[in-house]
Amino acid sequence: MGLHTTVPGIARIGADRELKRAVEGYWAGRISQAELEQVAATLRRTGWQELTEAGLDSIPVGTFSYYDQMLDTAVLLGALPPRVAGIADPLDRYFAAARGDDGVTPLEMTKWFDTNYHYLVPEIGADTVFVLDASKVLDELAEATAQGVPARPVVIGPITFLALSKAADVDGPAPLTRLDDLLPLYEQLLSQLAAAGAEWVQIDEPVLVTDSHEGLAEAAERVYTRLGALTDRPKLLVQTYFGDAGASLAALGRTGVEAVGVDLVYGSADTVAAAGLGDKLVVAGVVDGRNIWRTDLDAALATLTGLREHVGELAVSTSCSTLHVPYTLAGEDELDPALRGWLAFAAEKFDEVAALSRALVNGRDDQAAAFDAAREALASRAGDPRTHVAAVRERLQALTEADRTRTDAAARREAQRTALNLPELPTTTIGSFPQTGDIRRARQQLRTGEIDQEAYRTQMEAEIAAVIALQEQIGLDVLVHGEPERNDMVQYFAEQLTGFFATANGWVQSYGSRCVRPPILYGDVSRPTPMTVGWITHAQSLTDKQVKGMLTGPVTILAWSFVRDDQPLGETADQVALAIRDETVDLERAGVGIIQVDEPALRELLPLQSADRTDYLTWAVGAFRLSTSGIADQTQIHTHLCYSEFGDVIGAIADLDADVTSIEAARSHMEVLDDLNAIGFANEVGPGVYDIHSPRIPDAAEMTSLLREALAAVPAERVWVNPDCGLKTRTTEQVTEALTAMVDAAKAVRA
Ligand code: GLN
Ligand code: ZN
Repeated sequence: MGLHTTVPGIARIGADRELKRAVEGYWAGRISQAELEQVAATLRRTGWQELTEAGLDSIPVGTFSYYDQMLDTAVLLGALPPRVAGIADPLDRYFAAARGDDGVTPLEMTKWFDTNYHYLVPEIGADTVFVLDASKVLDELAEATAQGVPARPVVIGPITFLALSKAADVDGPAPLTRLDDLLPLYEQLLSQLAAAGAEWVQIDEPVLVTDSHEGLAEAAERVYTRLGALTDRPKLLVQTYFGDAGASLAALGRTGVEAVGVDLVYGSADTVAAAGLGDKLVVAGVVDGRNIWRTDLDAALATLTGLREHVGELAVSTSCSTLHVPYTLAGEDELDPALRGWLAFAAEKFDEVAALSRALVNGRDDQAAAFDAAREALASRAGDPRTHVAAVRERLQALTEADRTRTDAAARREAQRTALNLPELPTTTIGSFPQTGDIRRARQQLRTGEIDQEAYRTQMEAEIAAVIALQEQIGLDVLVHGEPERNDMVQYFAEQLTGFFATANGWVQSYGSRCVRPPILYGDVSRPTPMTVGWITHAQSLTDKQVKGMLTGPVTILAWSFVRDDQPLGETADQVALAIRDETVDLERAGVGIIQVDEPALRELLPLQSADRTDYLTWAVGAFRLSTSGIADQTQIHTHLCYSEFGDVIGAIADLDADVTSIEAARSHMEVLDDLNAIGFANEVGPGVYDIHSPRIPDAAEMTSLLREALAAVPAERVWVNPDCGLKTRTTEQVTEALTAMVDAAKAVRA
């Protein structure tokens, strides 16, 4: 069996989200475990078949998951947390670790590198006893082999597994200190896979493209020298992705592994050429596995032929697993045909990989049709007037630093004091109120035409009225309209801006059974008409209190969309920023005195390598400032950031220069305030006093004490009182109780 044409992994949720429905059905008790397994087996078979039919000669196996690949690896290594050990059924134990169960807290979830996929964070302690359980990957290998699939088992490697885990106890040792304890398990695993007939095994080590830990390259050399020296093992492919693996590539070059997988879309071919991989097979990821654009086949082939002389052998692949892109363009018939031609989802990427692989061997003429079509699509995209709108470009050209700068913050504060007349320690919320079943149903009915736009508007206005009344009754100072009209905080805006389109079925797994359908940002962005003014002014008309305008910031809009790859991201961000700026100006003109521009994704997009961060923060902060600097001094800009762990880039929060920043703090005892003090942050801040992520409702005493902790760090005239995040996932009862307690806490502290 060869390894010439492949991908590092594929999605598993199903082209029609079959797995989502099946696992949710299983959780709800509607289907049995056997029925769930049946759906899973069918999905695996279909996936493998599709790859084989596309012409791939080595098929990744083991990338299927009922929930998450890191959780699967924790099972593989016997590293589930002890609190689920008492659950007898393996599948129920697995789901309990993922989602919690009566009295069992689930594992924490966090972003998988800089993607929008979330993995479960294993908890590794000094006393975690690792025990190999290779049944999942062995079963899938046997299943694939029985179907005649040229299977290549895939597992996450020990360095990545530990680097992405967290210490089981706050003061416990870093998981990576347990590296040597894992190696015997990987040795056993390799010999079991060899005995089961695997010719190749892929070990994923994406952490090698980051500099998140000291000594990763040395660890790679040590681990893979040892595994490489095994006699009783399949051939080894160490797979990196999401960037340039830098020094780790040279380190792997010095080991006995047979192959190294590299990302040539987000990493550089020069690094690979210089890495001393002259006796290795290099699996070259030249097709973008995480964005949706059709590949420039000529450029990709040039990269491949340029690299060929520097490496032992060359295979063609995608830059990473296609987990991060939708399944197929089939079914996207409503798309503008020109736009459709510019795209490649997973199925189309498999064909691109196959065409490149054949062209590499037989010459480009062998694949003339594919290359011609790719060239045509590229030309169509480059020449399409929607990708270069003169008015947008001219506006961007004319921007100066002044467009990103407001008056001095202290002067603004004075103007806002007079204009807004708020009490000390003003209370507010982050924007959304519970998205009830009624709200979702109405949106569904609007989509299917069961109700018309007018009926929908009437219903949403009634929701807004109810939310305003509730906030008045609770006694909040600055109100919100509750965001009932928003399906999603990015999609809502994408639907109203030019330069974006939505797919019919472009689902991507976000975590577990949860999928998102990111909009595609393909062209120049502008805002034809106001997007939120009607809703906000309606809300304002119902109350004498201030109602905050509520917008999503440019960085977050980019982070949660598929973005164009034909210009620097910073330029795209500025286009979106101008659209948001137009909205702030219209809101102000309509009499709105406070406008919040959310940037929960600011930290998510932070580059994986620290060397790239300054550049990123310059354009990201610049775009936010552009979006918020078009208004008068007395209009107050709020921003909301979901996280507080900014580490050494905390200065970016100050650079945003929002008048008020609300931020997560309840879980970490207001720690972020010390960090902000350390950088001289002098604007107002709303450290969350209510952790909305937990169904537990804190009482007034608890919030009072958090508030007192906040006041020990920041003077009262700069402190706001609010929850950690939006309330859309909570129930109205929970929200009413919690916010009432929060207002009581503010009153207690004021007195
Ligand atoms: N305004 C949004 C909300 O309240 C912010 C959500 C977020 O930070 N993710 O839902
Ligand atoms: Zn948030």
